[in-house]
Amino acid sequence: MNQQQCRLKTIYIFIGPPGSGKGTLSNLCTSHFGWETLSTGNLCRKHIIEQTEIGKQIDFALKSGKLVSDSLITCLVEEWFEQISNKADAVILDGYPRTVAQAEALQNCLNTKFSWANIKIVRFSVEDEVVANRLGNRYTCTNKDCQAVYSLAKGSNLVPKRAAVCDYCSSVLGKRADDDMKAIQERLIVYHKHAGDLISFYGTQGYKAIEFNVDKNLDAVFTEFKQFACLHSL
Ligand code: AMP
Repeated sequence: MNQQQCRLKTIYIFIGPPGSGKGTLSNLCTSHFGWETLSTGNLCRKHIIEQTEIGKQIDFALKSGKLVSDSLITCLVEEWFEQISNKADAVILDGYPRTVAQAEALQNCLNTKFSWANIKIVRFSVEDEVVANRLGNRYTCTNKDCQAVYSLAKGSNLVPKRAAVCDYCSSVLGKRADDDMKAIQERLIVYHKHAGDLISFYGTQGYKAIEFNVDKNLDAVFTEFKQFACLHSL
């Protein structure tokens, strides 16, 4: 595939702890700008619900808040890139890469296939206590193709319109298996173990991470992100 055949111009890499709003901001960008998002977490959960061979292999890792193997995740991501590169000007990677090994694999894939695309690293910063509280209040659509995220926290703009039902597809809402306190703690430990190295890796490649304070309401975060995205024209 060459540049003429491919629309893809910008790749946003969202790095942030669980519950920092990466998925929610991605969805807003998808509906406002027509971008495509890859959430590796959603992709993993889809495999689990469909009980594919991959789903069976990764079920335990997801439930316990541990990472799926770098090689397996990278295969899924490369497959996704092949399908998507001609469908949008910009894509968001939500939750990938999560380790330096994944970042290196992604870099190889981009260098060979999408060398012209701009890469923007976006870091979501928020205290662990804030995200632990958000995750405790989080409910997700149980439809594997939707997985919309809601919050029952007071004052949140993610409260579903009808109790326990998804606004978009009317499926039942449920708690994610890894949104219990034990798995949340593990996911935060795993995040902090890798995030610094990931940011340093991108630094050595010449990509400076743009940091967003996401301990504020969604509209404010989106406004700030739009300003950033316009500055970095597609
Ligand atoms: P998320 O929906 O992004 O919070 O991810 C949920 C879970 O999916 C993680 O706790 C991991 O078990 C798995 N997962 C998602 N993305 C990755 C990744 N890039 N590398 C390894 N495991 C992942």
